[in-house]
Amino acid sequence: MSRGVRMVMLGRQGAGKGTQCVRLSRHYVVPHISTGDMLRAAVREGTPLGRKAHEIMNNGGLVPDDLMIDIVDDRLDRDDTTSRGYILDGFPRTVGQAEALEKITASLPLDLVVDLHVATEVVLERLASRRVCADCGHNYSVDAPPKYGWVCDNCGGDVVQREDDKPDAISKRLAEYEANTAPLIEWYRDRGLLEVVDGLGPADEVTERLYAVVDARRSS
Ligand code: ADP
Ligand code: ZN
Repeated sequence: MSRGVRMVMLGRQGAGKGTQCVRLSRHYVVPHISTGDMLRAAVREGTPLGRKAHEIMNNGGLVPDDLMIDIVDDRLDRDDTTSRGYILDGFPRTVGQAEALEKITASLPLDLVVDLHVATEVVLERLASRRVCADCGHNYSVDAPPKYGWVCDNCGGDVVQREDDKPDAISKRLAEYEANTAPLIEWYRDRGLLEVVDGLGPADEVTERLYAVVDARRSS
């Protein structure tokens, strides 16, 4: 099997990170590590972490760095990630998290960081129409609903609007992104790791753009 990749995916909420990360993870045969999915699973299961995170997430705030860093540190320590790599989605989200990740990955550094770029006006529309399967997380929209009612094509779960995709939480999350996460773009550019990929246009075309930048970094 060819070698995998170690990468971080940055991008505004609604840029299409989730969809693209699933594709990249199949293509490069590495786990897709989404901290949002991990937190939502913890909330569903009612773990201590889930109980701490629930309220914060519904309001569109950020879970404290120390909690997030522990979760990611544990996950990146497992055999699948140390042998093949990973695609990190939703982490780092603050400079503090990026600094911690730099230490965690000191012996196996990142190959690249992608900024999947989509303007705020566009993501606002995408988020307002986004619907998601409560069970498997598959994404739909009011313009591209499941085949039968609001029942997931994949797994039969209920397709709903995420609590944090409602208007108040959306503006809070986007402001959070500009304040805390956007500075990471320069931070990674300074370290020579950044690739900016245009997230506009058909999903398949975006995927091809991503393969191109990832392949260039893996072979260099
Ligand atoms: P999105 O990027 O669409 O807002 P995610 O699914 O990545 O959604 O994350 C959902 C929520 O989980 C965030 O709004 C935040 O409350 C919490 N979260 C996820 N990852 C992190 C992180 N690295 N640091 C802090 N909070 C996080
Ligand atoms: Zn489903």
